[in-house]
Amino acid sequence: MDFAKELLKWYHAHRRSLPWKRTNDPYKIWLSEIILQQTRVEQGEPYYLRFMERFPTVQDLAAAPLDEVLRLWQGLGYYSRARHLHDTAQQIVAGYGGRFPRSREALLKLKGIGPYTAAAIASFAFNEVAPAIDGNGYRILSRVFGIDEPVDTGAGKKLFAELAEELIPPAHPGDFNQALMDFGSLVCTPARPLCTDCPLSAGCHASAHKSVEKFPVKSKRTAIRTRYFYYLFIRHKNSVFIRKRTEKDIWQGLYEFPLIETAERVPPEKLMAGEKWTALFGDVPVKIGRVSEEIKHQLTHQILYATFYTIDIPNISPALQTGYLNISIEMLDDYSLPRLVTFFLEK
Ligand code: SF4
Repeated sequence: MDFAKELLKWYHAHRRSLPWKRTNDPYKIWLSEIILQQTRVEQGEPYYLRFMERFPTVQDLAAAPLDEVLRLWQGLGYYSRARHLHDTAQQIVAGYGGRFPRSREALLKLKGIGPYTAAAIASFAFNEVAPAIDGNGYRILSRVFGIDEPVDTGAGKKLFAELAEELIPPAHPGDFNQALMDFGSLVCTPARPLCTDCPLSAGCHASAHKSVEKFPVKSKRTAIRTRYFYYLFIRHKNSVFIRKRTEKDIWQGLYEFPLIETAERVPPEKLMAGEKWTALFGDVPVKIGRVSEEIKHQLTHQILYATFYTIDIPNISPALQTGYLNISIEMLDDYSLPRLVTFFLEK
């Protein structure tokens, strides 16, 4: 079986029509690639359109305040992508006169552009023969060629990169890379791939050996961390308190209500008797209103269990005065908030 030929034949008949395809504008390609990392196409497409409308060029994106970029990103998750996007746009404007470097090697010098994105931009925009292997690529190649080398090790990555270098047709590198992405999303999917209708099945090792679920092989499973978040929605007259998350942690740069985080589930009496609670309120009398149901929020390597306490206070404690922004409730819309917090507000 000629892998590339069969794959491209399928691609020309079934490729997805998406707004960032059939363009060789590196800015559009880059933006779509960053949005689509860890995001489904259907979810990412409206974000891409919104970004293009608000920031039609890399210069527009570089000139925007980070807060505005984060706000537009709200709901997509993995906010470090938005911060890197903004940072890389500024590097391109400041260091390259607003023009993207034209090769994979040069693109890789930009902080925030990794091997996959560099290869995608170089092949789609500049026709460089650079294979872009993401999760789709690893899955398809490991299944078709029966490769049991783990895809998340240096040796595994090297092996797959070498194989892809051999397979990529020099005349159509961009189409080959796009084809791997579309084929991985539509046919050779992680669960229940469509093997019976697959044009590669005749030469597919995993299909022949009925071992599709064994590929791709991974060396380690990342441990899932469980965290308990108690958010305090504290009202003083018509205002509430928020702070920016500055720590190197999830949601860096986003805003949230005062938070007490614990390693285990804590009942209200214990939470209110705790040090963090006392430090936050001091002598100020608090009136507890509604306590939400516990909300489970799943991130890639973490599960958050969040409970929101609605609290009214007659005056502002010193800790709230110094450590938090006091804004009117209507102004909350002007701040970028994690999806978990907007979910609570919508309710
Ligand atoms: S036969 Fe199945 S496992 Fe093999 S490439 Fe096709 S869809 Fe993937």
